[in-house]
Amino acid sequence: METTPPPAPTVLRAVSLDFDDTLIESEAMKRAALVRVASAFDGGEAALGRIQTDSRTGAKVTRHTIFRDFCREVPAARAVGAEALVDRYSEAVREGIASATEVHGASRLLAELRDRNVPTFINSATPTSALQDAVKARGWDRFVSAALGAPEGGGDKVDNLAEIAKRAGCTAAAVAHIGDGANDASAAQRFGSAFFRIGGEGYRDISALMPVLLARLGLPAPATCRICEKNSKLDALPYGGLVWSSPRWLLLHASKPTGVAGHLMLHARRHVVGPADFNDCEAAEFGPVLRRVSDALQTATGAKRIYTCFMSESSPHLHVHLVPRLHDADVTGFDVFQLQARAKSGAVEAAGDDACRAIVDAVRADLAARPPSL
Ligand SMILES: [Zn+2]
Repeated sequence: METTPPPAPTVLRAVSLDFDDTLIESEAMKRAALVRVASAFDGGEAALGRIQTDSRTGAKVTRHTIFRDFCREVPAARAVGAEALVDRYSEAVREGIASATEVHGASRLLAELRDRNVPTFINSATPTSALQDAVKARGWDRFVSAALGAPEGGGDKVDNLAEIAKRAGCTAAAVAHIGDGANDASAAQRFGSAFFRIGGEGYRDISALMPVLLARLGLPAPATCRICEKNSKLDALPYGGLVWSSPRWLLLHASKPTGVAGHLMLHARRHVVGPADFNDCEAAEFGPVLRRVSDALQTATGAKRIYTCFMSESSPHLHVHLVPRLHDADVTGFDVFQLQARAKSGAVEAAGDDACRAIVDAVRADLAARPPSL
């Protein structure tokens, strides 16, 4: 008897991404905002424990239902009014969302999907205008076709999936929905879409999902990013490791052999090509970081100036070269940026380890004493 081979899985055509705890680690931040608003009232925090606040269980919970229930529990809150409390909460979340940590690999996946023209949407239970503000503050509005939140007239992620299939011009089965909650799994199942879970029994994070998702989209695996690789192996750095770091930036000495002692590299931690794709936090910090690092490097080397350039050519991930140009330098101008390649090929003598180490130690101590004001 002939057996029929199992049908090949549908090639996926569009991507729908939950936002909170799929792309950014926001549930903890939202919980803190909720507690902050509730604690303004006597017994407010305890009252939170008696009402339904978690939509991931699949229950229909919004900021409006939470504060409506909260007002029922806390008489003093009734005097303020549920809608005013929703406004307080929304403001606290807005402040927290721009700086919340992203789930590992989120920016990288969005960049890969955009570069490969995959229709990509954010699909969240957050009210649409709040969601769009949050996506914009993260600098992700440039990467997605649309951010679809809780529809105005009442609706849910299934309605958004229908909208996504319509806009992408594909079937329900060709849409991938990615999320961390039971509500995500159920929405995908009800609409008939493929579901990929982040966390729990599913993929560790977005970074672990990416190769699988790209394969299901019929796309080749992404090339490895040299800068992401380097950022994940900080123990292997020369001269005692990092020179300085913050939640968004890493400063290190260029790899050996280098043409100029004190050739520093400033990496964005996030896989971001350059300023056009910065989020609000990165844009606000880039100037202060460059100013302080250049100053420290100039002080440590006595350089006439600090040459600075970034092209994101060898890897599409921001890595800024900061090279001291000494008063008596033999090589100046753009040729300086060729010195590392020439040192590698043996055409010029590489900078000595002791000189590099001394500069790194001096810059590290200076930045530890006076970090960039962020
Ligand atoms: Zn990268």
